[in-house]
Amino acid sequence: MTDIPFGALSPQLAADEDGLRAAYERVFARGWFLNGPEASGFEEEFAAATERSWCAACANGTDALVLALAALDMPPESRVVLPAFTAPPCYHAVLAAGCIPVFAEVEEPYYTIDPQSARRMAESTGARAILAVHLYGQPCDMPALAEVCDEFGLHLVEDCAQAHGTRLDGRLAGTFGELAAYSFYPTKNLGALGDAGAVTGDRDSLDERVRLLRQYGENPRYVSVMPGMNSRMDELQAAFLRLRLTRLDELVTARRRLASLYTAGLAETPLILPVERPGAEHSYHLYVVRAGTREESSQDERARLIRHLSEKGVGTAVHYPVPGHKQPMFGLGRADVDGEMDLSFSERLANQALSLPLWPGLAETDVERVCAAIREFYGL
Ligand SMILES: *Cc1c(COP(=O)(O)O)cnc(C)c1O
Repeated sequence: MTDIPFGALSPQLAADEDGLRAAYERVFARGWFLNGPEASGFEEEFAAATERSWCAACANGTDALVLALAALDMPPESRVVLPAFTAPPCYHAVLAAGCIPVFAEVEEPYYTIDPQSARRMAESTGARAILAVHLYGQPCDMPALAEVCDEFGLHLVEDCAQAHGTRLDGRLAGTFGELAAYSFYPTKNLGALGDAGAVTGDRDSLDERVRLLRQYGENPRYVSVMPGMNSRMDELQAAFLRLRLTRLDELVTARRRLASLYTAGLAETPLILPVERPGAEHSYHLYVVRAGTREESSQDERARLIRHLSEKGVGTAVHYPVPGHKQPMFGLGRADVDGEMDLSFSERLANQALSLPLWPGLAETDVERVCAAIREFYGL
C-alpha cells in the first residue's frame, strides 16, 4: 500500500496544470513581473470573492498582518490582544508592526480566542486592537469580539490565513472586522506556487494606507510620504491565484467532505474531535484531533500515536507545539509581551493537538485507512 503523506500539492494542482502553464506563458510574454495587470486583476477578483470593497495584494500572509496593523496607525507600542494558541506569524507580525502582543486564552472546544479573556486583557492592558485568528478554518466568535471592541473602542483585525471560505451565520470570515489578512502560502485553502498574501477591507482611507505602506510609503513613485516596506505580490503568483480562485468553493467543499469522513470514522475513538461552532461552516484548513483526556496533558499519548501512524505510512503534523507565551524569545520579565496569568488550556492544546492528512484530492479510502490505523492504535 502506498503511503499517505501529511500534505501533497501536486494532486491538488494536476487539474489546473494546463491553466497554470498558460498563466505563466501570459506573464512571460508580457515581460512585466511586478505591479502589473495580474496583481490588480487578482485584487479586484479577490475583493469580490471575499465580499469586501477592496483588496491590496502583498508578498505573504505575515506581511498582510503587519500592513493591516500598521495601516491602523496606532501609537508605537500599542497592545494588541491575540490568542496564545496560534501560528507564530501572528505574534511576529504584531512585533514587526511596532506593537506589543497580549496573549488571551482560547475557548474550548473551538480553539479560537476566548472573548471573555480578550475582554479582560483589553481592559487590564489598555489594548488598542484585537487580532481574531480563525484557527484551522474555525470562525472566531465574531459577534462577541465585536462587542468587546465596541465597548473599549478597539480595532478588530481578522487573520484569515487559514479561513478562506469559512463562514459564520452565512457571512464570510474576513467581513466582520475592519481589516482582514490572508496568506496564499501553497498549502493554504487558496494557495499560490510560492509566497503571496493580501489585505481586504471596506474603508478607502485604509486601502490607501496599505498601498502606501507596501511600497516605501511612495506617492507618487520615488516620493515617500511615510516610512514603508517592500511587500508586493508578483505577477506570476497573481496569475496563478486568479485561476485557483475560481476553484475555491470546490476546494473548500472537498475539505469539508473529508473532514466529515474523519469525524464519522473516529467517533468511537477516545480522541477529541473538532467541533464546529454553531452557525459555522468550518473550512478545515487543518483537521486537528486531540490525543489524551480532557483533564491531563498527554504528550506521550500523542507521541505514541504519531509513531504508530508513521509505521503505517501515515504522515501527521503538530500545529502548534509551543504557545505564544511559551516561546523562548519571550523570556521571563520581558517588557514586550503581556497576557493572562493562566493560559493552561493553550498549553494543554499544544501538548495534545495532532493534524491528520487532509487536502483536496486525498482519496476517501485513504481517510478510511487513517481512521482504521487510529482505531487499531486504541484497540478498536
Ligand atoms: C500561514 C499563516 C500566516 C502567515 O502567512 P505566510 O504567508 O506564511 O506569511 C499567518 N497567520 C496564520 C494563522 C497562518 O496560518
